[in-house]
Amino acid sequence: MVLLHDLNADLHAHSTVSDGTLDPEALVRRAAERGVDLFALTDHDELGGLERAREVAASLKLRFVPGVEVSVTYAEQTVHIVGLGVDPASDALRNGLAEVRSGRMRRAEEMAAGLAKVGIEGALDGALAYAGNLDLVSRTHFARWLVATGHCDDVREVFSRYLVAGKPGYVPHRWARLPQAVRWINAAGGVAVIAHPARYKFSETETWALFSEFKEAGGTGVEVATSNHTADQVRRFARLARDFDLEASRGSDFHDPTEHAELGRVCRLPDALLPVWHRFV
Ligand code: AMP
Ligand code: MN
Ligand code: MN
Ligand code: MN
Repeated sequence: MVLLHDLNADLHAHSTVSDGTLDPEALVRRAAERGVDLFALTDHDELGGLERAREVAASLKLRFVPGVEVSVTYAEQTVHIVGLGVDPASDALRNGLAEVRSGRMRRAEEMAAGLAKVGIEGALDGALAYAGNLDLVSRTHFARWLVATGHCDDVREVFSRYLVAGKPGYVPHRWARLPQAVRWINAAGGVAVIAHPARYKFSETETWALFSEFKEAGGTGVEVATSNHTADQVRRFARLARDFDLEASRGSDFHDPTEHAELGRVCRLPDALLPVWHRFV
């Protein structure tokens, strides 16, 4: 018998339906090739790739979990909440996500205007050419265009020079509220998981507040294992998972074969934690 912890679960990845570069079919094929045993597609604020991914996964006998990554504004920062095992037909979830997506094009226009002010013309058309879904123009699409046009060496550099608070292409945005996102996911029969918790610039107290409010709202888990976590961060969030009685998730946050994370290559969860995928196997 394969122990739950030994299963190569990758429960966080993106396709061209949001800001990934592989279409849902190619993404699922790559997951299978890379030895993933249980796979979730979790596009930002979108469910449009799930049916396509599910079909290919079934043909490859790869266990598939329909997912989503919801953009949330919490304490003036963007926090991402992954929903796993969601029903793509849920009206509550679909309507909520449509609302979250609605401001993206306007924001993209403002981002392009900010970049034009520092001499970078044509960023809106540039970014749109990289977007596989016009409802979901993201900072990542701007970043890829800025790299392709030689303004920066890589996507990371673009973010630090242009696309974060205080930089010319940054536009503050209001996403969903935390309890709303958890409610939509739960209403769709899924479970909510705090994504890549080390990425937020919260103090210890704010992190504690985020976890408390998440739990209070009906949240279930936290990504203890994600591509950018150090061993110390895994320990830190394993402790928080235990303190808040949360289940633990594991996901690469894969976007593209040439950008940092790879499908199925994430550290193992500590033995003391309950893998959230006990629900899906
Ligand atoms: P958006 O939803 O338009 O704000 O874009 C957020 C996406 O940008 C994230 O999902 C990541 O894919 C990407 N991203 C955010 N920060 C960084 C960073 N520092 N380096 C590379 N990619 C980033
Ligand atoms: Mn992304
Ligand atoms: Mn994210
Ligand atoms: Mn993600």
